[in-house]
Amino acid sequence: MTKILITEFINTNSLQTLKQSFEVHYNEKLWGQPEEITKLIKEFDGLIVRNKTKVTKDIIDHAHTLKFVGRLGVGLDNIDTEHCKNKGIHVQPATGMNADSVVEYVASSALSLIKKIPLFNNGTIKGEWPRTTIKSEEISGKTLGLIGYGSIGKKVSKYCSNLGLNIVAYDPYLKDQNNEQDVKFVKLDEIYNVSNIISLHLPLTDETRNLINKVSFSKMKQQPIIINTSRGSVINEDDLIEAYNNNLISGFALDVFENEPIKQEFYNKINDNMNCILTPHISGVTTQSNERVCNFIADKTLEFFKNR
Ligand code: NAD
Repeated sequence: MTKILITEFINTNSLQTLKQSFEVHYNEKLWGQPEEITKLIKEFDGLIVRNKTKVTKDIIDHAHTLKFVGRLGVGLDNIDTEHCKNKGIHVQPATGMNADSVVEYVASSALSLIKKIPLFNNGTIKGEWPRTTIKSEEISGKTLGLIGYGSIGKKVSKYCSNLGLNIVAYDPYLKDQNNEQDVKFVKLDEIYNVSNIISLHLPLTDETRNLINKVSFSKMKQQPIIINTSRGSVINEDDLIEAYNNNLISGFALDVFENEPIKQEFYNKINDNMNCILTPHISGVTTQSNERVCNFIADKTLEFFKNR
């Protein structure tokens, strides 16, 4: 019987679906024991992970019968996809399944930060009643710059057009740029030049690591708000804090970080007088998206092994 190893949380329905067709070994804490995964993996045909399991070259080299890796999420930076490809192992992300949750996070963060809600909230909690000392604005008519225009970037664009935002986007790998309405595709420097809000929707690769750095911040002309739901290392976090402290940007929402959980050195640079929102990698995680992601990967696993 085909054997599937699951090393992180999957919902009960999807687990039952998989158990009806496969022999399943499920331990949601296994991601923290890479040596155990390396030992176990040689018996399995399929592996299902979220973002905490590091599917390394070493694990793949021990996986003599592995044919399929299902990713309960989208980013593939925890999987050595190149080595999987060389070994003929199919890697299946849950593309698009958590996009709606990320879109809502981006829109609500943009609204909150433009309206300076974190500053009003913190000031009011401290008893300062900052009714006239903080200037708030409306989002309509402002420009949203998207870096990365894939499955999430596209949906953010559509949702935010309805909020009255003008959309500009940069994605050097997008082929059908002419098919997109209400979006102007521009060079990266133009994103920096015209955007009041910049939101990142690109994968972490050797090319995109540290893409947004001191030089990028120095080119941002509109004191934009930065929203990062992609991967922490796409932005240089030290440069981001420095840019905020030097008024080059007017706020930031970070859902992803270079180190997760965040290290103390980063916390030391944050204070409650900052127009910022920090969340623990949850923008794509809601009850609804979790159901969609798990069901999608369970279905894709069944389909993959049925077609072999
Ligand atoms: P996707 O693959 O559909 O789209 C990514 C887009 O980025 C592609 O169109 C690609 O051409 C573009 N791109 C690649 N390199 C680029 C570069 N150098 N400059 C500009 N664009 C570039 O992926 P998606 O589903 O839209 O997700 C985007 C990223 O968001 C994922 O890689 C993942 O890391 C992250 N994500 C995070 C969460 C979360 O909970 N925080 C949830 C879902 C996705």
